[in-house]
Amino acid sequence: MKTDILIVGAGLSGLVIANRAAKNGLKILIVEKRNHIGGNCYDYYNEIGVLVHKYGPHYFRTNKKEVFDYLSQFTEWHYVQYKVKAYVDGKLLSLPINLNTINEMYGLNLSSFELREWFEEIREKIDNPGNSEEIVVSKVGREIYEKFFYGYTTKQWSLEPKELDASVTARIPVRTNRDDRYFTDKYQAMPKYGYTKMFEKMSAHPNIKILLNTNFKEIKDEIKYKKLVYTGPIDEFFDFKFGKLPYRSLKFEHENYFQEFYQEYSQINYPNDYDFTRVVEIKHVTGQKHPYTTIVREYPANEGEPYYPIPAQKNKKIYNKYREEAEKLKNVYFIGRLASYRYLNMDQVIDEALKASQKIINNALEF
Ligand code: FAD
Ligand code: UDP
Repeated sequence: MKTDILIVGAGLSGLVIANRAAKNGLKILIVEKRNHIGGNCYDYYNEIGVLVHKYGPHYFRTNKKEVFDYLSQFTEWHYVQYKVKAYVDGKLLSLPINLNTINEMYGLNLSSFELREWFEEIREKIDNPGNSEEIVVSKVGREIYEKFFYGYTTKQWSLEPKELDASVTARIPVRTNRDDRYFTDKYQAMPKYGYTKMFEKMSAHPNIKILLNTNFKEIKDEIKYKKLVYTGPIDEFFDFKFGKLPYRSLKFEHENYFQEFYQEYSQINYPNDYDFTRVVEIKHVTGQKHPYTTIVREYPANEGEPYYPIPAQKNKKIYNKYREEAEKLKNVYFIGRLASYRYLNMDQVIDEALKASQKIINNALEF
């Protein structure tokens, strides 16, 4: 079989590139080992009719207008601001930590100014916070770190926060105002009819063929292509020749309830209780009206699908060896969260795929 571009993985990265390249007249074949498109953003209506996210909550947000406009070609939006709570000391407190969190937790009535002063007093003075513990204690001190971050992080990653890059816990900012939204990006919305519907539109082009239930390994010698776009784990591509890159996985426990809602918020985190990290009721943010609901508990795991690259220096060193090999392959492009071994959000992935697609298209057209 012949194609212009062979794409491994029908996730966000693969679909963006396929969509752009197909519009430029190139023939695309996507091979996907799962039985559906959408990668980890896949959603579906479950057995009781509730729209659920199969692989954990996917809250779309971006500050990049070009990313929002790009997706807007394929979907209308349900505009929503995401709210997350943490169950700490028997109370549901808002996350990221903000003025309300601290006042409710300690029964205080501090002003923003007073909270800034207090943080200044209790924070540990660390000049260049270099890991996921230091970055938090240098902002809010040890007690708050222990209540909100230590337990969650060790559960999620099975590592001490000290062993993780600062960028991991730095994803959760600290605020001294009352803004209790999880994110403050300019564009925050969910695809009105779900991610999968949006992906179906992105891939609906006569130049795009998709082979589901197909591992790249099984077909790689049977397909002739000009360019290969690989969005799977980079270590697997090279048969783990520099050793396995560690990934963190999750087990999802879905539970249906024959009532409209189960909890008050779309996400409640449990840093200090239970073996799961969070309970997600995505119906709060999809905008679906339905008499029933579904919740998902997330249990972190070592084994299973590689959901999270683990941001730590020692892993970066291994990754760099793979990257050097990757750079030698002129016809292969490594794109996306697993192929670049980075903890990327959807909007970053789209932005990078859009930028890369131009080069890939030009090179394939010249071939
Ligand atoms: P993927 O979605 O991983 O797609 C790669 C695809 O390649 C997969 O479908 C895989 O099956 C396929 N594949 C791999 N190897 C092979 C092979 N050998 N042969 C064939 N196919 C193969 N981002 C946000 O912006 N907001 C969020 O709220 C958010 N929440 C998240 C929650 C969880 C639990 C996780 C895991 C991620 C979350 N993300 C979120 C990140 C988001 O999922 C990613 O940024 C995005 O899905 C990355 O797209 P991708 O195409 O690079 O990778
Ligand atoms: N985190 C934490 N406590 C929380 C929420 C997050 O310690 O209640 C830390 C934890 O290390 C987590 C990281 O911040 O892995 C990033 O959280 P985010 O909600 O962005 O994780 P994701 O949705 O990507 O799993």
